[in-house]
Amino acid sequence: MIADRYTRQTLVKEFGQKGQELLATKHVIVIGGGGLGSHSANLLVRIGVGSIDIIDDDIVDITNLHRTSVFSEQDVGQLKALILQEKLQTVNTKVRVKGINKKVTNENIWPLVQHADVIIDGTDSISLRVLINDVSIQHDIPWVYAGVYETVGMVMGILPKKTSCFQCITQDIPKSTAQEIPVFGSLPATIAAIQCNEAIKLLLGKQPAGLLIYDVWNQCFDIMDIQRNPYCPRCGIKSK
Ligand SMILES: [Zn+2]
Repeated sequence: MIADRYTRQTLVKEFGQKGQELLATKHVIVIGGGGLGSHSANLLVRIGVGSIDIIDDDIVDITNLHRTSVFSEQDVGQLKALILQEKLQTVNTKVRVKGINKKVTNENIWPLVQHADVIIDGTDSISLRVLINDVSIQHDIPWVYAGVYETVGMVMGILPKKTSCFQCITQDIPKSTAQEIPVFGSLPATIAAIQCNEAIKLLLGKQPAGLLIYDVWNQCFDIMDIQRNPYCPRCGIKSK
């Protein structure tokens, strides 16, 4: 049954039937169901990750629609997590899709992510990313950071205590004081697709390549091989 649905995917030699079967055993937690998270969850469901939780406590707003592809005007005012569960479950009934309408906090993050093989960052909040980073390091759960700002997107797969962590790179991430972060509409889809690729590779045991930066307006990609900061307050060996 798996072979039928995923025939074209299993023909990819780097992935194959073995990759498909392994993916079906994996559990991914997507934190944030907006521009990035909804696209990433959509791709992960189609590709065949076994189990996907999407956590978000927000409702669909008309201002979300320019940068998402799962939501429609009929969904405005509805809970993002539940709409994503309902819609994505129909895309692939072989995958378990669960929408969780909750705000992620320091108190509940561990129970929410404890079964994750990989965490997907679909947030637009630095403080939430710091929380994800902390739980990742504390419990050895890989995660994929992604961020979008104006016309620039960034993605980095993080293997706790093996690659640089979010706190190692925070000085390279643009800070915004804007109440509403400016985002070019098609950028989250591009960045979420790359984030999804990184997540799949992490699930299949491949090492992440570093911090990828894509400027859609100037059409340039850059990959920065950032070394772990030995003085990083979270993962640094000299931090204590
Ligand atoms: Zn670090």
